[in-house]
Order: sequence, then structure tokens, then C-alpha cells
Amino acid sequence: MHTDPESLSAPGDEPPACRPSQLLKEFHSAGRGFWHDVPDADWNDWRWQLKHRITTLEQLQRLMPTLTPEEVAGTQLANQKLALAITPYFFNLIDPADELCPIRRQVIPRVEETHTAAWEMSDPCGEDSHSPVPGLVHRYPDRVLFLVTDRCAAYCRYCTRSRLVSNASGYDFHPDFERQIEYIRQHPEVRDVLLSGGDPLLFSDDKLEHLLARLRAIPHVEFLRIGTRIPIFLPQRITPELCAMLKQFHPLFVSIHSNHPRELTTEVRDGLGRLADAGIPLGNQSVLLRHVNDHAEVMRALVQKLLRCRVKPYYLYQCDLIAGSSHLRASVRRGLEIMDALRGKTTGYAVPQYVIDAPGGGGKVPVNPEYVLSHNRDRVVLRNYEGKIFEYIEGAHPAPAFKRSENFDSPEFV
Ligand code: SF4
Repeated sequence: MHTDPESLSAPGDEPPACRPSQLLKEFHSAGRGFWHDVPDADWNDWRWQLKHRITTLEQLQRLMPTLTPEEVAGTQLANQKLALAITPYFFNLIDPADELCPIRRQVIPRVEETHTAAWEMSDPCGEDSHSPVPGLVHRYPDRVLFLVTDRCAAYCRYCTRSRLVSNASGYDFHPDFERQIEYIRQHPEVRDVLLSGGDPLLFSDDKLEHLLARLRAIPHVEFLRIGTRIPIFLPQRITPELCAMLKQFHPLFVSIHSNHPRELTTEVRDGLGRLADAGIPLGNQSVLLRHVNDHAEVMRALVQKLLRCRVKPYYLYQCDLIAGSSHLRASVRRGLEIMDALRGKTTGYAVPQYVIDAPGGGGKVPVNPEYVLSHNRDRVVLRNYEGKIFEYIEGAHPAPAFKRSENFDSPEFV
């Protein structure tokens, strides 16, 4: 089935008829698809899933004869830019009959990836220029990004670190754990370490335990975080043994990365449940992507479903200006419209912070729809989620009061 792109273009519209919001919120298994005769023990083994990833055009064409010419050309070129890899589990979420399938768009290369706009960059967040030792990014005062590997279970076509992950473009990433750990030891202001990559959960339990133990032994490191897309690409990795190991290192938070409600399968829900049962607070980071989740109804289904998986929607990222991603980038205006459609209309816990990572290394900048219409010494004029105008008085006497403005419906009042 081909979904007409125009049918997805207006953020306030009803979602496409084939994806009614209630259906989007249902949990389903990814199923076994082409791998129906694989023994359960293999299918549920994360190492089997990794070993049987789809990594070549030939495999992809055999499994998906509906590949478009743009996808064939993109896949032929992928090994010079960002490798192709899809786990069998995640492949089963693709609708081969839908050219605009939101899962397909995230992991199957397209020839547009080779088109670089003048404003696009290979390192849009300026990480390399904030890297005091290989594999460590120190951009904010009290926290560091600790890159552990350049490998992921599958590769996202819009990855902001596509310069280094998969090593297809020859970045030759070599983190130096000794120097990374020593840097943190020498910088008492670092109280928060975020392990990322590549995906840290690709390490064996033993290797990850060793690394976490060394970081936990640094007295001024108060807080550890792991950024991972493994629970979405490879939920089989979230074993009881992994959860028991992670549990030793509290406070340890895990940030997952999910972009579409269809990614939240029963397998993912169960894996996230195991992490939550181990006492690990879970947050989600999404990237706003064109024809993937740039629709209010899709985003609402995603954030509500995340809460049912015990995950707090944390950030919604404007897609970075990574080279070759313009076909996947939605506009900031669309992002603001989606945020406006969430705020006040669903549980506050479900509403992520929309951010733009300032190009060149300025860090995350929150962007919000306009709720403060004007502000002076005495009062603030506010717009609520229904578009109604209120004023909040800030005079010293009487005490601050909140009152509905009956007569003022324009910011010119103040
Ligand atoms: S999982 Fe993360 S690091 Fe890996 S390709 Fe996707 S966005 Fe990039």
C-alpha cells in the first residue's frame, strides 16, 4: 500500500486512515515473519539477532522485493557513509507494501542521503571540538558524554554521529577508556556521566559492569546515565542478568530512543518493564522526523504509549543538520505545532521538551510555543492551552495573584 505523502502533511489533520490513533496505541508482537522456523531459543537470543542482521542489498532485496529505486541506490552507497544494519526483530516492523512506512524510513538507506545541503555538517553538534580526550565530550559544566563504541544494533539514517558510527566513512573511532576515566577523575566538577556511542548495551555484561564499576568508584561522579536504542532495536538484550548487573550502580538512568508508537511492541514493553523493575528510571528521546512522527496524533500516541511502558518522554529533538538528512527533517514550525497540540491536552508527564541542539556546539536550546505573551515589572500576560488569555500580577502588594483577564485578549494591553 502506498501512502500518499500529502495525506500526512498537515499537523492538525486526522492521522492517515490506515493508522487510527487507537490502533497506534495497541501493543503487538513484532512476530517472526521470514524467520518463523527459527527455534525460540535462537530468536530470543540477542547474539543470534546481531549475527543475523540484514546488512547487504542482496539480503534486503530478497526479503523486500518492493524496494524502490531510491532505496536500492541508497543501499548501494551506504557502506561509504553509514552502514546498513537491521535486526531481524526490527525488520519485522517494516510494512514492505508502504513506501512511507515510518519504520522503513528510519533504517533503510535512500539515495537522498548523498545530497548534502550547504548548511549541513558532518558534526552538527560540534562534539569533536569539545573533546579533550578521544571519546569524551565535555560541553556542559558538570557533565560529560562518554562514547564507548562506534557500533549499534541497527543504524538510524539520520544519526547525528553518522560520521563515526559504523565506521563506514573511515572515521576510525578509538575511545581510550583509561584517558577518558582519568580525565573524569581529574575534573571534580563532573558529577554526571552519560555513556553513549554507538550503543553501550552492545557490550557484554562483564565489560559494561567493569566500566560502570570504575566510573562509580570516582567519588564526585554522582549520577550515571546510559543512552541506548537497544531496547527498541533488540529488546532480547534486556535480559534479567543485564538488569541485575545494572542495578548495582544506582543512581543509574537509562535514556531510550523511540520515534514511533509502532516501535513499542510487547517485546519492547516487557524489556522496559524489566529495566523499570530493576529500579532504573527510564526516559525517552525522540527525533522529529518527516513522515515518521511529524504528526500530532502519532506523537500523542507515542508519548502516551511510552508512559504505559513506564518511560517518561524526555526530549523531542529537532533533527540535527547532519549531512544528507534533509529528506527526513521536519520543520521547526511543525515541531512547535505538535508541542502545542500536546501541551495541556494530555498528561504533563507525557509532554517532552522540544529542543534544538544549537549547530556548531551551542548545546541544547529549549524551544516552546509562545505561552508568555508579554512580561513587565508588574504582570505577565499568558496564553493557556485553549488559547485563552490570562494575566498574572507580580506587584509587591497585595501578594501575587492569578486572575482571568476578561477584557484583554491582546498583548498590546501591557
Ligand atoms: S542508535 Fe543512536 S548512535 Fe546508533 S545509529 Fe541510531 S541514533 Fe546513531
